[in-house]
Amino acid sequence: MKYLILLGDGMADYPVEELGGKTPLEAARKPNMDFLSRRGKLGLARTLFEGMPTGSDVANMCVLGYDPRKYYSGRSPIEALGLGVHIAEDDMVFRLNLVSLSVPEDNFLKSVMLDYSADKITTSEAEELLHALNAQIPEPRLYLGVSYRHVALWKGIEQMKPLTPPHDFHGKEIGPYMPDNLKLAQYTRQCHEILKDHPVNLLRGSKGLKPANGVWLWGEGRRAAFDSFYERHGLRGSVVTAVPLITGLAVGMGLGVNNVDGATGDIGTNFRGKAEAALTALRNGDDFVFLHIEAPDECGHEGNALEKTRSIELIDELTLGPLLEGLDKLGEPYRLMLMPDHATPVSLRTHTPDLIPFVIFDSRTAGCKGNASDKTPDNGAPFTEACAKETGVVENGYDLIERLFIK
Ligand SMILES: [Zn+2]
Repeated sequence: MKYLILLGDGMADYPVEELGGKTPLEAARKPNMDFLSRRGKLGLARTLFEGMPTGSDVANMCVLGYDPRKYYSGRSPIEALGLGVHIAEDDMVFRLNLVSLSVPEDNFLKSVMLDYSADKITTSEAEELLHALNAQIPEPRLYLGVSYRHVALWKGIEQMKPLTPPHDFHGKEIGPYMPDNLKLAQYTRQCHEILKDHPVNLLRGSKGLKPANGVWLWGEGRRAAFDSFYERHGLRGSVVTAVPLITGLAVGMGLGVNNVDGATGDIGTNFRGKAEAALTALRNGDDFVFLHIEAPDECGHEGNALEKTRSIELIDELTLGPLLEGLDKLGEPYRLMLMPDHATPVSLRTHTPDLIPFVIFDSRTAGCKGNASDKTPDNGAPFTEACAKETGVVENGYDLIERLFIK
């Protein structure tokens, strides 16, 4: 028996005028997802909880079966795990975004957050900039991640007022969101001074790209501690992902990591390569694979409804399609759960704690795409937020994985 979770990050949404009043899931042409839904068990689940950040860290930890209220210690300790960074007891860990700011001459606090991703800076450009910062400022130590997502380790720094993710104040002045900790505020200012005239940014300027002329620290926390996934479920598992956050959860839980060339964490990712990596892991003996695709969330943060719909269609055609074909060829029965981790409505450009739709599909009762079994009649419900509303709610989303792992 094989088990899979296919997760489209931030895939859920609200009706969008530009899509004729439909949500991206409703507007998308997605025959494979709808097949699973029509022959599977559809439902709604809660993956984000009162008083906790509405982030992918909390939601994906929950989908993997760990109660965030028990295991969550901040976002960046998880990302640091994914980058293989050793975290000491007295280290405070931060997510460090390279960002684009428009900075007035006279008052840094009146700077505006132009782009939380520094115009999707490349990892190699980021490497040069992080090198310059590490060379000139001894603390914090910076560790390279992917594109604009990096990690900072700061020894012996005190707790502070929760920091705000930069994608939450896009287009606004940074003053109200500056850290209340003086050391952090000074560091943010100092980094701008070092980066603003860096050759990487001068070159980006000449190409019409926004400069990575600032940093933003957020997602702070201390070392994370998870009990082993294998000990919990007796199943050997691994993940397929492009983002350090999910890699970090996997490392912390003792799950394997399957790397995919060309996995970018946005709509340009290698959708088909991800399906192949998952199938290879199952062929090589894994019982369970968690396949994470970041693209819909990025489109949600950019407020782009058409691109988000397109990203769902690409997941359906290039990832889920080949995955179902490969699973049928594998010749073993399987259970597959399809879901987002949370909603990232294009109208709001950030995450919301809404209940999310999920479907659990069992090949033993539903058969396969080309040859649907009549053991499970077609319930006529495509995979959408509205159809899922017709069914029950799983209040503790971290119980879902137990439902998936039913023998
Ligand atoms: Zn997410």
